[in-house]
Amino acid sequence: MSLTIDRGRLLAEIEALASFSDAEAPAVTRIVFTPTDLKARAWMKERCEEAGLTVRQDAIGNIFARWNGSDPAAPVVGTGSHIDAIPNAGKFDGVVGVLGGLEAIRGLQQSGFRPKHSIELIVFTSEEPTRFGIGCLGSRLLSGALSPDAARKLTDNDGVALDEVRRGAGFAGEVEQVKLPSGYYKAFIELHIEQGPLLERQQNPLGIVTKIAAPASLRVLIEGSGGHAGAVLMPERHDALCAAAELILAIEGAARNSGAIDTVATVGICEVFPGAVNSIPSRVRLSVDVRDTDLQRRDTAMRTIETTCDSISAKRQVSIHSELLNADAPADCAPAIIDALSQFCRKHELKFIPIVSRAYHDSLFIARIAPVAMLFIPCRNGYSHRPDEYAAPEDIVRGTLVLAETLAALSA
Ligand SMILES: [Zn+2]
Repeated sequence: MSLTIDRGRLLAEIEALASFSDAEAPAVTRIVFTPTDLKARAWMKERCEEAGLTVRQDAIGNIFARWNGSDPAAPVVGTGSHIDAIPNAGKFDGVVGVLGGLEAIRGLQQSGFRPKHSIELIVFTSEEPTRFGIGCLGSRLLSGALSPDAARKLTDNDGVALDEVRRGAGFAGEVEQVKLPSGYYKAFIELHIEQGPLLERQQNPLGIVTKIAAPASLRVLIEGSGGHAGAVLMPERHDALCAAAELILAIEGAARNSGAIDTVATVGICEVFPGAVNSIPSRVRLSVDVRDTDLQRRDTAMRTIETTCDSISAKRQVSIHSELLNADAPADCAPAIIDALSQFCRKHELKFIPIVSRAYHDSLFIARIAPVAMLFIPCRNGYSHRPDEYAAPEDIVRGTLVLAETLAALSA
């Protein structure tokens, strides 16, 4: 099999897709189900049809473009990513995995290869949480990580229900039908820019993802009692901010003392009421984000935080109420796909490192129903989600080449 990746076509298509944007170039803004997003989807579907792929869409707008294998009943080998972009983003996040996936399929078609398992490109709906407040909407529904009932409760930033928005955008049918049957995928691979600096710093063209970290988040409300900053003496105080300060340091400690570098914990929001110089804080609201590549370790850190809430509450006579907002499980990538990716990196004498994905990806959810792996390419300075996000053409082509060979090996 002599496989070539059409670099000119791939780069031209990345530029073309970037032109569907609600921000001035080089910035890209493409929010799910806006007229701009729908135009980009139509353009994308045309490219897939031109390549002879069979295109279908589900009720949430996930696009599937299939190259039929000689055994149509055999489980599918999937690849793909997302094309939605947060406000003022760049042109590579997600797009490299979608257009690289399409180019990999076209390269294989032209090489004369014929798959036994169908190879399917997917464009996931709303990987970014911009419009509905939840990331990976399409892949959550595909994997069953989000129930149709929970999806129906979602509204966009203007308060319009998801159901109304998607139907208005032309995606009919019931969200119940989105979940894929078990055994649908034989394997799934997502090509993506790293969105961090490690590959560039170590001058490695490729990173093979071994684990995808996932967050759990809490909202914590601490209620003490307020009063005059002069009149209430220290033995009488139940200062909510002092309790919060103690808790924030305990949250940091829960991550630092987990025994692994992969545990991270952050308090990103601290709202103090009433917020006056001469008033004892009566109420504090905190946001807590704890991430890890290991579910047990992350849950241990979460339990430590919960018990610390109880002990601080008892000691300081304040009430502490914590609400779990979200707790997605981290995922391990599949050793067999990691091996296949490594093998083709070696074949082309491309240096690679095993790497942990610290950001969220659709693959995190597809991992619940399929063996998955991810392939990272470097991005300049690790920048992502900003207009100067940049991936070098040679890195995009290398990633696409290794993706294509791996798709071929898995679908043969
Ligand atoms: Zn992405």
